[in-house]
Amino acid sequence: QGGRDPDQELLDTRMRAVKHKILILSGKGGVGKSSVAACLSMALAELSQKVGVVDLDICGPSIPKLLAVEGREVVNSQWGWKPLISPHHGVKVMSVGSLLEQSDNAVIWRGPRKTALIRRFLKDTFWGRLDVLICDTPPGTSDEHLTVVKAMKSADPDGAVIVTTPQEVAIATIRKELNFCRKLGVRVIGVVENMSGFVCPCCQERTDIFSSGAGERLAGEYGVPFLGRIPIVQHLTQCCEEGRSIFQSHPESPAASALMQLAQRV
Ligand code: ADP
Repeated sequence: QGGRDPDQELLDTRMRAVKHKILILSGKGGVGKSSVAACLSMALAELSQKVGVVDLDICGPSIPKLLAVEGREVVNSQWGWKPLISPHHGVKVMSVGSLLEQSDNAVIWRGPRKTALIRRFLKDTFWGRLDVLICDTPPGTSDEHLTVVKAMKSADPDGAVIVTTPQEVAIATIRKELNFCRKLGVRVIGVVENMSGFVCPCCQERTDIFSSGAGERLAGEYGVPFLGRIPIVQHLTQCCEEGRSIFQSHPESPAASALMQLAQRV
């Protein structure tokens, strides 16, 4: 009575061992949120940070594939679930995808069960000491998304990186996302524009396939930092699909340098 909730205490203890917690948000699916989350974790690890990624995109977990731990099972230990260790830069990974027998099993969990699972991910995973924990969240501002952000709020995140593409339709959803963060009191670390122009692999000329600059304009309008542009490059898609690190396969790529700059800014 009047005592502290032991679950909350354990969560607080685990999260105290993590210096920075960053949420990755997007207004809609398909803008490259998970790819940016995975690449950002690898870039930070390249910069000698101890990094973990928790995949809270319960209905479409793609982090295990991106970080090449797909098909590996999470095991329990006396200290809690042991996160999987990515072959890329030793990033620690926890995802619902790794808890399901087959990663193509859809998870149709609702409300309280989902909140409980998200809290367990943070509380029952033996993260150990980390410099940065990156949280990949579901897209949008749905109930599910609200659940994730609320559960994460108890872990006292540093803030959110919002990923968008440059088209006006994507920007409209980002407006909602920024208002959502304001309402919930989540600090916005900044906006990053992904798929921002195509850089020709032969001549390096840049073509703006979609419109350009809308992410930067919107960041200005809301008074939040603009964190940069990541171009469309075919080898990023390939790396993502094959679970390879762009920093190892194509370190000279314009996307790799944009992602590395992003890691230095967050
Ligand atoms: P989301 O998490 O927002 O749904 P994903 O990270 O799954 O989006 O990315 C969607 C698709 O776009 C994936 O096939 C991914 O490989 C590809 N992709 C993401 N960013 C880039 C980029 N900058 N250049 C090329 N392909 C990209």
